[in-house]
Amino acid sequence: MPMIDYRRARVELRLTDVLALIGYEPRARAGTQLRGPCPLHGSRSRTSRAFAAHLGKNVYHCFRCGAGGNALDLWAALSRQPLHAAVLDLCERLHRPVPWLKDTQPNGRRAALAQPTLERTMPGP
Ligand SMILES: [Zn+2]
Repeated sequence: MPMIDYRRARVELRLTDVLALIGYEPRARAGTQLRGPCPLHGSRSRTSRAFAAHLGKNVYHCFRCGAGGNALDLWAALSRQPLHAAVLDLCERLHRPVPWLKDTQPNGRRAALAQPTLERTMPGP
């Protein structure tokens, strides 16, 4: 079974991508840091700044519910999926190739090509 290269996924899938996906609207912005209502515990107050996202470091933290992590953790929490499924889902939604671990790529090919399974899988001599 192919395995996801989480290290690469953390670099390639950014917090900005996830926040854009949910149409997040921050209440305050300072450089690459955002503050606003927490999308995880569902801040009732529209003016809440409990949620802090550091786009440069690609991490988030909620001072109210204590949630925190990277972009992958955020999507896993938002979509209520285990991390593995969340990464596949996120790649699909963002139209990005899945960052498979090199040795475990499906069909031994670059997953980015997303080719349908070929009938002839054996390489020639
Ligand atoms: Zn929260």
